[in-house]
Amino acid sequence: MTPSALTAQHELHIMQRTTVAIVGKPNVGKSTLFNRLVGRNTAITEDFPGVTRDRIYGTCFWLDKTFSLIDTGGLTPSSDDPMLSFMQLQTNLALEEADVIVCLFDGQTELTTTDYEIVESLRQTSKPTLYVANKIDGAKHEQNAVNFYQLGIPEIIMISAEHKLALDVLLDKICEHVRDVEEETEDESTIRIAVVGRPNVGKSSLVNHLLGEERMLVTDIAGTTRDSIDSEISVNGSRYVFIDTSGIRRKSKIKNSIERYSVVRAFKSLDRCHVAFVMINALEGVTDQDARIAGYAHNNGRAILLVVNKWDLIEKDTHTAGQFVYQIKDKLKYLDYAPIIFTSALTGQRVVKTLQMAENLYAQYNKRVPTSEVNTALEQIVRKHHPPVHKGKQVKFYYGAQVAVRPPTIVLFCNHSEGVHFSYKRYLTNQFREYFAFTETPLHLRIQQR
Ligand code: GDP
Repeated sequence: MTPSALTAQHELHIMQRTTVAIVGKPNVGKSTLFNRLVGRNTAITEDFPGVTRDRIYGTCFWLDKTFSLIDTGGLTPSSDDPMLSFMQLQTNLALEEADVIVCLFDGQTELTTTDYEIVESLRQTSKPTLYVANKIDGAKHEQNAVNFYQLGIPEIIMISAEHKLALDVLLDKICEHVRDVEEETEDESTIRIAVVGRPNVGKSSLVNHLLGEERMLVTDIAGTTRDSIDSEISVNGSRYVFIDTSGIRRKSKIKNSIERYSVVRAFKSLDRCHVAFVMINALEGVTDQDARIAGYAHNNGRAILLVVNKWDLIEKDTHTAGQFVYQIKDKLKYLDYAPIIFTSALTGQRVVKTLQMAENLYAQYNKRVPTSEVNTALEQIVRKHHPPVHKGKQVKFYYGAQVAVRPPTIVLFCNHSEGVHFSYKRYLTNQFREYFAFTETPLHLRIQQR
């Protein structure tokens, strides 16, 4: 496969989920509200040690609606940031990345000039903005919160995140602005790829190389989050969509940009992909930020290709690649299934090969095993190594079936699900991986009591 076999490249707009951002001063209760709204709904599927849980980006479900939520308070200021410019940064993040803004106040406190400034900066946007007074635990606080109308806002919604009061009112108001998104729009054979990683790791170089052109696709227009542009290419009959190529190419406008700012964009494209190219800088190895991004992809069941880029800059001997693989597996233990490739987006080395790997990954990710084969395998796997007796009870598996693809998900029914320990579940997962050549895809295993 050569780059010249790439054809029919064009731009697409695949709708993305509505994104809602919470902004506000420190201590008004942003994180409490975030945790209340995201709650246990986050798609954390496996409890592997070392998976970094992100507390700044999550998914909310309310009635028939789904949206993504950003807690801008999760950004940590660097010590030399004055508070106001830091808050400006948070607000900019919300204005750039969100479709709906929730501006949170502490309803128990007096108004300050900062409150006026925040409202002023939010007036720049035409995006729906909800003003919310938090910590309204009783009638006394309600009286105080009425003062917030002095800010010149149309409505103040009164809630208590801590005591879970009126959260339904807030959710209803948010959901008035939430779009319906059809999950799978194009046909199944199109592979959606998110290219994610830290700034300067080489994302746009890689994508440019694959798209076969250097010109910038889009110019920077404020408020284009709704139609982030994806690019499609065909290679020898296979179709690939690169998610949010506008976002990859657009360098952040904000000078004082901090790393966690760019991570939000990564999360958003991970929400829409089948395969994630998690790019790691060969010169720096796996950083915390890389682990956070990879952890999110893992938690959300995405197929993952680890792309170690800038490989041309590394002095190599016969052990170098092996040592790198070892280091990655050590830092990202839960990703033992994800394949690794070493590239140079600058010279083009192995760049086109990433597509071949994505193709193989996707085939596994999308593969369906007939129920009869799952059960034949289950019988042999259990016979080879019996489940341990738990509280005097022998765990028995009745049958199993693959209930989903993307990622493949197998459900096993047994008499006593509590008795299936982490280590035995791990054994089962690894065995199913081997049996059905699910070697590189995430594989979800659910044990259900019947
Ligand atoms: P992005 O921020 O992740 O999109 O990174 P860019 O693609 O803009 O790359 C940042 C810088 O690294 C640019 O100067 C690129 O030319 C350079 N670069 C990207 N990939 C490679 C690579 O594989 N090898 C080397 N030596 N430089 C690279």
